[in-house]
Amino acid sequence: MTASSAAPTTTVPATSQALFERAGRVIPGGVNSPVRAFRAVGGTPRFVASARGPYLTDVDGNEYVDLLCSWGPMILGHAHPEVLAAVTEAAQHGFSYGTPTEREVLLAEEIVARVEPVEQLRLVSSGTEATMSAIRLARGFTGRPVVVKFAGHYHGHVDALLASAGSGLATFALPDTPGVTGASAADTVVLPYNDPAALAEVFAAHGDRIACVITEAAAGNMGVVRPDPGFTAELRRVTREHGALLVSDEVMTGFRVSAAGWYGHEGLGLQHAPDLLTFGKVMGGGFPAAAFGGRADVMAHLAPAGPVYQAGTLSGNPVATAAGLTTLRLCTPEVYAAVDRTAAVVRDAASAALSAAGVPHVVNTAGSMFSLFFTGLDAVHDYDQARRQDLGAFRAFFHAMLDRGVHLPPSAFEAWFLSASHDDAAVDRVLDALPHAARAAAAGSGSL
Ligand code: PLP
Repeated sequence: MTASSAAPTTTVPATSQALFERAGRVIPGGVNSPVRAFRAVGGTPRFVASARGPYLTDVDGNEYVDLLCSWGPMILGHAHPEVLAAVTEAAQHGFSYGTPTEREVLLAEEIVARVEPVEQLRLVSSGTEATMSAIRLARGFTGRPVVVKFAGHYHGHVDALLASAGSGLATFALPDTPGVTGASAADTVVLPYNDPAALAEVFAAHGDRIACVITEAAAGNMGVVRPDPGFTAELRRVTREHGALLVSDEVMTGFRVSAAGWYGHEGLGLQHAPDLLTFGKVMGGGFPAAAFGGRADVMAHLAPAGPVYQAGTLSGNPVATAAGLTTLRLCTPEVYAAVDRTAAVVRDAASAALSAAGVPHVVNTAGSMFSLFFTGLDAVHDYDQARRQDLGAFRAFFHAMLDRGVHLPPSAFEAWFLSASHDDAAVDRVLDALPHAARAAAAGSGSL
């Protein structure tokens, strides 16, 4: 029950429910990526039949304003006519060749033109592949084994990066999941985010064995937590001093928070540029395309130019590169300005509604990406703080929004995503739902 007396705008998701049950018989947990299963919020995930602009339509015919945007990629909205035309045109010429194509060169040139520290890049098919390949390259280039990452940062399901902090700061990590061996995690160190002292301590103890520090450019996977002022520069200074590489994971932020991702948004310039960057999501326009790139002298170590092996049957796929290239070309300054404006309207309205309902919360932003933390803390700078949320309040909030036709990310630890297609009608629907959801959050507080 929510605190609101208004009738839900969506119908019972009977067809989704039936599909979820069928799915559970043939797909573990009924989904192909865990967070889709609604485990954090309960209930039935909506099986989507189609999507257009800012809307998702489920198999029961319910329409939702989409604040998930496929977890980031759909910055232009769904089925953008020009991207659709480019994909259709590309598909008519075949789906995959296993030989080089002109469009791979065009996409690489587009990225190099946008992100100054990227001199060369390699196309892959997922963000996971990008980060996995980047840390292999960092290890191959430096000849060192250790990778430093931050608690609460997600870099895909790479074995070495699915690791949690050991018992002390300068100690090695433990596997986060069965199936990752102690050996895979043993060369990973997990540090608290935004903590220069912890960084200094680990470099003092292990500096000559550290291949790289990998960081989400601005974290989005514990909810949005941007680097504190000075932290990116400190990462750059310390890694450079010790001959380690700095790998900035822009899979989520890349081409979303500015034409040059978080690097462009933060604006620290080449002096503080990372050595390697990873990309995914927006650069594939909703298709499987991702990349890693950076300093030409480092990238030159990659096969076949150099000895570090990396490959992919579908890398640079002609349909995916058509979607990605067209999407990036359409990501003009006007698009970024529009997404920034809409994100600010939704963010401010959500915060105002929660305040009016007496729900304690913190709003964190990274460009147009933002999160609402359901917490009584004053600020959220790291994973320990991000975890201290009232999950019952979020769960009630999420379902009240869903009932009124707004699909949020189904977890309190995620960013909300807007697109350039979120027009006044879509935003108004969100604004109408928010006060109800905020009251539901107040009623659901402490229930989990
Ligand atoms: N890195 C970051 C920062 C991400 O947010 C994600 C996915 O959410 C990944 C890497 C992994 O990307 P993919 O899901 O395409 O493998």
